[in-house]
Amino acid sequence: MRYLVTGAAGFIGSHLCTGLLAQGDDVIGLDDFSKGKRERITPLRNYPRFKFTAGSLSEEKHLQDIIEQVDVIYHLAAVVGVKRYVEDPIMVIEVNVNHTLNLLKVAWQSGKKVIFASTSEVYGKNEAVPFHEDSARVYGSSTADRWCYAVSKSAAEHLCLGFARKGLPLVIVRYFNVYGPHADSSAYGGVASRFVNQILSHKPLTVHGDGSQTRCFTYIGDIIRGTIEAGSRPAAEGKIFNLGHRRETSILELAQTVLAVSGTKGEIIFQKYEEFYGPHFEDIPRRVPDLSAAEQILDYYPQISLEVGIGKTINWYRQHHYQSK
Ligand code: UDP
Repeated sequence: MRYLVTGAAGFIGSHLCTGLLAQGDDVIGLDDFSKGKRERITPLRNYPRFKFTAGSLSEEKHLQDIIEQVDVIYHLAAVVGVKRYVEDPIMVIEVNVNHTLNLLKVAWQSGKKVIFASTSEVYGKNEAVPFHEDSARVYGSSTADRWCYAVSKSAAEHLCLGFARKGLPLVIVRYFNVYGPHADSSAYGGVASRFVNQILSHKPLTVHGDGSQTRCFTYIGDIIRGTIEAGSRPAAEGKIFNLGHRRETSILELAQTVLAVSGTKGEIIFQKYEEFYGPHFEDIPRRVPDLSAAEQILDYYPQISLEVGIGKTINWYRQHHYQSK
């Protein structure tokens, strides 16, 4: 098979390229490096079946040329990271909605299958966990910029489903708090890689609020297996899948796990949300996936425990210190 991966220089995109190349497929990676990193692409260049093309999804002609060369499109290019949502909602909507629309139009015209990377954020602050793929989306006011990401990915899902109704072969996957090597460990990254960065830089681990809010942290290797299954199983077509882990972990427990697994002494401090995100921030109290659909149709069973995954992540950051600065 010949695949296009948009956002190939992103955290999940680069791992997906590796997974597809490792099974012997051809991959074209596309990225505009607005948020992606060149270091993530470098190891992929060792695969003769990998081609990389720099560019934005706003360039329709370029997109048409690439899409003609592939069978299936994995659309991962997006603006991600909670701090970014609150700093630049315009960019979030522009990239996550407008660029997705551009891509879907071209994919639909050429009849190419799309696997769209969505997010557990779409469920918002719905308190009825676990979230089933049909669960309601619950958001706060538009004055809380945090919701712009959920709104953008929701709008993109509506676009995807609209094109599916017009005949586009499509699968949507919703990721739950993915972590692992190559993740963004800056203030713009997810909490797990941020804590790993803090512990390796001998800084205190900054837990927001009282740390009782929960997430289900999912190791990148599990996510890539689920994503590849979603793209290759005919029974998955036209469906939405949660891809995550069942274990619900509080942020305080995550900090304690990072400390314990690292084997180093460190300090946990509690930080007010507004100090980090600015005013009007709203957090999500609990986020837990129902994985039945992924189990039944994708045979998706996450294998990596939080302790093992955090251990692998710490080891990787220790070996690639430039990432943890
Ligand atoms: N968080 C934290 N310390 C940090 C970064 C994040 O306590 O340094 C918290 C954040 O406030 C949220 C949770 O960790 O409650 C998960 O945040 P993340 O940015 O990973 O993404 P989210 O799951 O909210 O989309």
